[in-house]
Amino acid sequence: MHTEIVLSPDELPTKWYNIVPDLPSPLPPPKNPEEGESRLDFLQKVLIGECLKQEMSQERWVDIPEGVLNLYEQAGRPRQLFRARRLEEYLKTPARMYYKAEFYSPTGSHKVNTALAQAYYAKKEGLERLATETGAGQWGTALAYASRLCGLECTIYWVRAVYNWKQERRSFMKMLGAKVHASPSDKTEVGKKLLKEDPEHVGSLGIAISEGLEDAASSDTVAYSLGSVLNHVLMHQTIIGLETQKQFEKVDDYPDVVISCLGGGSNFGGFAIPFYHDLLTKKKDIRFIAAQSQASPNLQGEYRYDFADHAEMTPMLKMYTLGHQVKMVPIKGDGLRYHGCSPILSLLRHEGLLDTIAYPPDEKMVFEKAQLFVQKEGFLPAPESAYSVCCAIDEALECKKKNEEKVIAFNISGHGLLDLVGYQEVLQF
Ligand SMILES: *Cc1c(COP(=O)(O)O)cnc(C)c1O
Repeated sequence: MHTEIVLSPDELPTKWYNIVPDLPSPLPPPKNPEEGESRLDFLQKVLIGECLKQEMSQERWVDIPEGVLNLYEQAGRPRQLFRARRLEEYLKTPARMYYKAEFYSPTGSHKVNTALAQAYYAKKEGLERLATETGAGQWGTALAYASRLCGLECTIYWVRAVYNWKQERRSFMKMLGAKVHASPSDKTEVGKKLLKEDPEHVGSLGIAISEGLEDAASSDTVAYSLGSVLNHVLMHQTIIGLETQKQFEKVDDYPDVVISCLGGGSNFGGFAIPFYHDLLTKKKDIRFIAAQSQASPNLQGEYRYDFADHAEMTPMLKMYTLGHQVKMVPIKGDGLRYHGCSPILSLLRHEGLLDTIAYPPDEKMVFEKAQLFVQKEGFLPAPESAYSVCCAIDEALECKKKNEEKVIAFNISGHGLLDLVGYQEVLQF
């Protein structure tokens, strides 16, 4: 039995999966608030045309353009699926544990899967620059990388609380030729107003989105790119789960439990949605668990229409939300700190098809499990991915207690090589 399950470049999936037509109930569309200008019109102006089309698509299987397939291959796809044999042995669990290696991405996370697609379409549509927000910094790095490969400029508004401590990642973005601003910044009206109230404002993802949107609206040759939450982003990310399904076929196994960490939902969605397809259309029995932080347990919020950003520039989305202006304590797994969850995954949760667990905000328990993981398997997970690892280990220990031989599949959304300061602070070494 193999430990590393690989696909050849010929086996790279050539279509993304759009779950929207297969959802158990119709997906509530984005809508305008009762008052003010049309946010739907505004969004149409700032998004990449093809992404907007995909956002509303009812087509089940969408061809991945040849150019994007080439970029995926350049970025190292298909990626390995590993059987966590050493970890299983150490835990003495009867469970079989498998993890997907999104940490092998050139910039460190799964985010390149949608960044490459978006930059490719933007270039084709004659755009010159992409503007965006970033929280943990992974999305900013991924878009900087994809923009450069596709010949576009890139401007990044980065939540100040994180901008300040991730200096190496900031350098990486600059190596890739991006312009990077701490958010709130003095480059936008939204930012200036918040800085006036508090010059040391730590920022939030919601605020950074507002800044990126304002920037993108300033010119016809600039578009706004989003790294999570939206339907088209989750669809691009299904490449993860589609590969994983082929890999399970190769070893004639199949997951009983599918786990990943969840901030806005893109890595969880990308990994899990192809398996939801099996659950919804082939009656497969799978349990899905999203691992979150108690600092931002958005799946335990209310299911209602809410804005996706702080300044209420976006349309309202029907989603599980903590409120678009909620204050959240900073954590090192900052990529999980967002007030709302993707509408698609929110619907699945509302239908009772998505479980969630939220770990304490001191992150000690989570990071200790990440430390165990790197010592047994050799790969250092991103602080966000550590939540996925923690949840998978908890499930494996549960299997041991009940002597159950379950198959646990979990996604490692990124590596933590540029986030070691976070581990160092929490684990105190
Ligand atoms: C952005 C990010 C996350 C969280 O965002 P999702 O959209 O929920 O996936 C998790 N892990 C890593 C490594 C990330 O970069």
